[in-house]
Amino acid sequence: MQSGPNRTSANMRYIIIMILIFATFTSGFSISLPSLGAPEPSVLYDINGQRISGLAERSGLSVNLEQISPYFLHAIIAVEDKNFYKHHGVDIVGILRATFTNIRYRKIVAGGSTITQQTAKNVYLSNERTFIRKIKELYYAILLERKYSKDEILDMYCNTIYFGEGAYGVEAAALTFFGMHASELNLAQAALLAGLPRWPSQYDPYVNPDQAKQRQKIVLDRMVTEEYINKDERDAAAAEKLTYQKSSLSQGEAPYFVAMVRDYLREKYGERRIYQGGLRIYSTLDLDMQRAANLAVLNGMKDRPADLQTALVAVDTANSQIRALVGGKNYSTSQLNRAYAERQPGSTFKPFVYSLAIQQGWTAADQIMCEEVEFHVAGSPPYRPTDYGTEPYHWKDFTLKEAVMISDNVVAVRLNDQIGPVNAARHAEKFGFKNLDPVLSLPLGSNAVRPLDMAVGYAAFANQGTYTPATYILRVEDQNGKVLEKNQPAAHRIISQANAYIITNILNGVLQPGGTGSSLRERVGRTAAAKTGTTDEYKDAWFVGYTPQLSCAVWVGYDRNQAVNLPGSVAAGPIWADFIKGASAKLPEKDFHIPYNVTTLPICLDTGFIATEYCPRPMEMAFEDGTEPQDLCPQHSPAQEWADEGSWDSDETRNEDENQPSRPWWQLW
Ligand SMILES: [Zn+2]
Ligand SMILES: [Zn+2]
Repeated sequence: MQSGPNRTSANMRYIIIMILIFATFTSGFSISLPSLGAPEPSVLYDINGQRISGLAERSGLSVNLEQISPYFLHAIIAVEDKNFYKHHGVDIVGILRATFTNIRYRKIVAGGSTITQQTAKNVYLSNERTFIRKIKELYYAILLERKYSKDEILDMYCNTIYFGEGAYGVEAAALTFFGMHASELNLAQAALLAGLPRWPSQYDPYVNPDQAKQRQKIVLDRMVTEEYINKDERDAAAAEKLTYQKSSLSQGEAPYFVAMVRDYLREKYGERRIYQGGLRIYSTLDLDMQRAANLAVLNGMKDRPADLQTALVAVDTANSQIRALVGGKNYSTSQLNRAYAERQPGSTFKPFVYSLAIQQGWTAADQIMCEEVEFHVAGSPPYRPTDYGTEPYHWKDFTLKEAVMISDNVVAVRLNDQIGPVNAARHAEKFGFKNLDPVLSLPLGSNAVRPLDMAVGYAAFANQGTYTPATYILRVEDQNGKVLEKNQPAAHRIISQANAYIITNILNGVLQPGGTGSSLRERVGRTAAAKTGTTDEYKDAWFVGYTPQLSCAVWVGYDRNQAVNLPGSVAAGPIWADFIKGASAKLPEKDFHIPYNVTTLPICLDTGFIATEYCPRPMEMAFEDGTEPQDLCPQHSPAQEWADEGSWDSDETRNEDENQPSRPWWQLW
């Protein structure tokens, strides 16, 4: 029979062996220290392999102990590991205390980590809080102490701890919070920084200045206890007013885009990997196009009120990859990315509704009257749509193409009523919009949407009816070139080629004489299709449009929803036109592809019939074969011309002429 103690020690041995086996099979655990992969900042590339600056440059700022203010070294030792120069890497009392706390709360909550342990964790291990990681950390800490001097370990520590705001290492932190070098920190500043690593998000002085200040006082008290400073020095430092400022380290040319990439990477790979993991991120941005966007925004906003904001986002029409993105007027004053902020799109939403009308059999030449009309919806007061501007109604018929060109609201709402708002909303959702409210005012942009969605939605028209969701990261690789992710969303057809082209033809009319964007035609300088948008009380000004290669949405407005008092064509249009012109400089000039089953014909804008040479306002329109009007304009025939002159009896003349039908104007020469 075995005795009790023997069995216990056998169990212990079993547990230890299990732990060793488990530890051995857990990645990254080796008997000697893993080779020290120097922390390397991640790099972001554009579509042509150019480096986009601003992602993690700060993290490459390594300094020697001599380049760090002694105040900081004393402060960090006092608050993080007062026995640093005495212990052998592991603080047994600290571990026991932490273990007791962990057992009491049944999870790993307290650190109890020495500076050496934290360094082992920062340099060799992930951030997860598991028992195995804790064991690895202790083991590596002991190895670190054997291999390196205390000063070398402290130096490693100071260059790898995280202070928040993307600042890894004390030099980056000094630049991020005080706009100075780590060697220049005074006592008050050093004590504040030394307090941050314990809980960077909570003590962030940009977010919680009071808590940061309280934490600084704790650090100063510890420095007194450890006799680095006296009480007078402590009180003077505590009383000092700190001004936080970021160094003028360049934000780069695409700050909103870079911030978006950083947020994504932080969520997926963890903050430390961005700054020290040496990731290579291949993005869809085109720096040349981004520069064109920056310039267009700068010019377009320069004579506008200081707090007027803007957003520009452009995608490649073939795949909806984001090529340029400006999320606001100035990143250093406001980081909100307005390309992703929801606003009412005004009339730029009309094309999605007109697309369904065309699908249902309406043609660009069909007419609807703009007049006073009242809609009764159960549970709401009667709805009476009107046009913007001085006159509420035109009191005349419009072809659908002209109604879009001049942005007639009454026609759009009547059309929506005819095709059914629920159908229209579901149709528009195929272009990437979510949960649209199927209201009569849908074509007037009553549902708030993001500029990005507008650019991507219009891209489907440019791309002959196929829709692709937006992407901005093509591929992420780790330090060794291993692909961590790849993004290539599939395209799918949402409308016919004919439908897409007919809408493109209509939107091309917006830039032609008579259209709301005609003043921009010369400025763009190439074939394009576009739509202006202005919301109620001129709160949002939009311009959305595309060439065969690029689709771009521009929004101008206030963050707080006040009136801009400028129509989309004036406030947003020039930015759009300048961008398209600048960004297209390196692209070949192309016309939109006309599908085989589409015919274009000159149509009389006044009647919707085929235009004759007498029609005063002929306009080329596109039709799916078989849907085009068959008859010549009856109102502007030669007979009618004579009749209008009134010199002889019109009835007789007309009778005579009926034997000789008038020919379309383009056949007369
Ligand atoms: Zn009207
Ligand atoms: Zn006519």
